[in-house]
Order: sequence, then structure tokens, then C-alpha cells
Amino acid sequence: MSLILQAKAQINELAVFGSPPLFATAKSTSNLVKPDFDTFLRYSKIFHDKRRYTNDGSLVKLLEQRLAEFHGAKFCVSFCSGFWALALTISVLATKGKSEIIMPSLTYRRMSDIAAWVGLTPRFCEVDPDTLAVSATTVAACMNDKTALILGVHPIVNCCDVEGLIDLAEANNIPLLFDSVESVYETIPTGKIGSFGHAEVFSLHASKLLNGFEGGYVTTNDAALARELALLHGFGFEGPDNIVFPGGLNAKLNEIHAAMALASLDDLEAQVDRNRERYQAYQQTLAEITGLRLLAFDETEKTSYKNIVIELLPDWPLSRADTLRILNAENILARAYYTPPLHHKAMAYPHIECDLPVTDQLAERFVLMPCGHFVTTTDIEAIVTLLKFMADHADSIKQRLAEQKASAHVSR
Ligand SMILES: *Cc1c(COP(=O)(O)O)cnc(C)c1O
Repeated sequence: MSLILQAKAQINELAVFGSPPLFATAKSTSNLVKPDFDTFLRYSKIFHDKRRYTNDGSLVKLLEQRLAEFHGAKFCVSFCSGFWALALTISVLATKGKSEIIMPSLTYRRMSDIAAWVGLTPRFCEVDPDTLAVSATTVAACMNDKTALILGVHPIVNCCDVEGLIDLAEANNIPLLFDSVESVYETIPTGKIGSFGHAEVFSLHASKLLNGFEGGYVTTNDAALARELALLHGFGFEGPDNIVFPGGLNAKLNEIHAAMALASLDDLEAQVDRNRERYQAYQQTLAEITGLRLLAFDETEKTSYKNIVIELLPDWPLSRADTLRILNAENILARAYYTPPLHHKAMAYPHIECDLPVTDQLAERFVLMPCGHFVTTTDIEAIVTLLKFMADHADSIKQRLAEQKASAHVSR
């Protein structure tokens, strides 16, 4: 990477101080899987020849069957998005007459909105600082006689405490739904993600491990739940014009999205291999920098190596805001991990105010780094070389940033 070192030999050469960025095109933290285009076209020819574009066509059926097998679940029901898969599954599973849904605050930013759509009040719980995920302990602290459902959300690296949550939910007779969007490929000692709790929800959004442009699906072993969800996502119709289920809506997956998702599923093992290579590139290069800790994937289990998260340790010399500013100026679209947490989000619907000191601390410390199909190991070496440069020149960078802020203030 001598070329890059040359490029950023002085702090003047940083893009944040007006020089050209390190990358001409943005390096994103979204996975952006690129399924094989010919495979996508081959699948697409099936719906095109049959002239059936949606409404449980053959590709949607094939996808559901393959995903159920993949996750070791009896049933899979597809949806137009992960959002509606979550909302409709929550609406079916939540205990009637109870009003609260327990979910982490350090999570996907739309999670509380989903609760509002189904008329439940989110009660935010802490996460375990080691897993960054909900655990039986953090959920138990929020349970009360209004609890309608527990939403066990997997973190973006490794899995949450599946067994602990199952035991807790069963002991208290509370429905348990997993948001497993970030754990599609993962296993735990007792089995494959997708086969636990009352149901598990996944997304096929283009930024996730399986890319169906947009889409989502639910896996479950509960036949009655699967049937109800299949009715709900298609207006509540069973056969033409026979509404057996009020409250259904159009949340179906269509054939072209299923074609893309099938092409993505065919490519999954290769995608995980590529992700492992990128993860190892980060692992090797980051080992030379003190102050940054790469979150490690649990390699004793199956893991997607999808997301790259680093922790800024106390001896990292720059603030997270300045670190992100410098990286973003170079077209390295690193992002703060799940920030702000949901309990600080402005919400126009009922929610429960709470103090979550562990979440507040964790929300300040982590950064999501570029990953996925469009980030090469050479890109990663260049990114980490830049981080090293930032650490080595932190004092002069901080001084220059302060001057920049002061002069921006004067000229205003
Ligand atoms: C993206 C995401 C969702 C929502 O999926 P969409 O298909 O984009 O609606 C839900 N949960 C988590 C954890 C996510 O990251």
C-alpha cells in the first residue's frame, strides 16, 4: 500500500481538508450482494413464459420451499418486505389484550415504528455488553403483566441468547418472535437460525445477505401460524373473493423479486467465502493498530462474516464523530453503529420512557466499516492504512479540525 501512504503523506492530503478522496466511488457498509445476472435471467424466464408475475407464482413457491429447507423449518411464508413480515407476524402472535412489546433499543432504527403499526407500545430493554444483543436477563427486567410479545433481535455480528430467551418465554407463557434479519446463515449449538421460537423473520432487501431487491420472509414450525400469515399477506383472501380473514393487506412477494432472491440463494456459499476473505483482511491489517478492536465472528459455528464492526477503545486518539467525518470525506461510508438508540428517537406514538445506561455507553463506541461485494481486499488495506495514518497524526489532525471549525464559525 505504498501508493496510498504516498497519497496521504501529510494531513493536508486528507479529503476532509480539501484534497481529493481516497476512493473515486463510495465504499458502503451495506452488503450489496451482486447475484449472478444470468442465473437471475434464467429464473426470470420461468415467470415470463408462464405470464404469471405475482400472487403465489411458481418462483415464490420455489423460494419458500428452498428457504424452509435451508433454515430447517417446516414452513416459510414470503412478504414484500421484512417490515411487513415483522408487523403481520407480531400482530398474529402478540397476546390479545396486552399492550407492550419488549425490544432492544440498540437496534434497527425502524423497529419501534413496526410496533406502532400493530398498535403495541415498545418497551425498550438493555443489551448484553458482550453480545450487543438482548438476553434473558435484559428482557426479564422489562417483563410485566402487560407484555404481549418478546422480540428477540439478533445483533449484526453473531447471535443473541436464543436458548435463554426460549426458556424465559416458555416459563412465562409469552410469545417469542426472533428478528433474524442479520443471522440468515448463522447456526448455534442447538441448530440453525430460522427454526427457533414461535417464528423468525428475515429480509430480502438489497442491503442484506440475501438480495431480492426488496422482500422478506417468515419461518415457523407452526402450521396454523403459517396458514394465517399466508392469508394475511394476500388481503385475507382464500380463493377468489372469499375473505376469510379480515385485516389482511397486500404484502405479497412478486415473481421477479423471488427470481433475484433465488439467484442470491444459489450464490450464498460463494458470498460467504468472499465475506470471510474481507473479514480476514480487516483482521490482519487492524491487528497492527492499537485503539481499534474488530468484533470477532464466532468461527466455531456457521457465520456469514457479513458485517464489519470495530470498537473505538479508550486509547484511540480521535472522537468517533471526527473519525467518521474523516473517513466519510474519503468516500469511506463508515457509520456509527445503531445510533441514536431507539429510546432517544423522537416518536409520535406511545412508547415507554426509560434510562438505558449500558445502551447509551455502547451507542458511542462502535463503527460499521465498508463490506460486501463491492469492497475488495485491496480497498480494505487502503482503508486500514488510512486509519493508521489518522492514529499516527492524530494531534495535528485534531488541531487542524479545530481551526477549521473556528474559521467556519467566523465566516458565518
Ligand atoms: C433491514 C432490517 C429489517 C427490515 O427489513 P426490510 O426488508 O428492509 O423492511 C428488520 N430488522 C432488521 C434487524 C433489519 O436490519
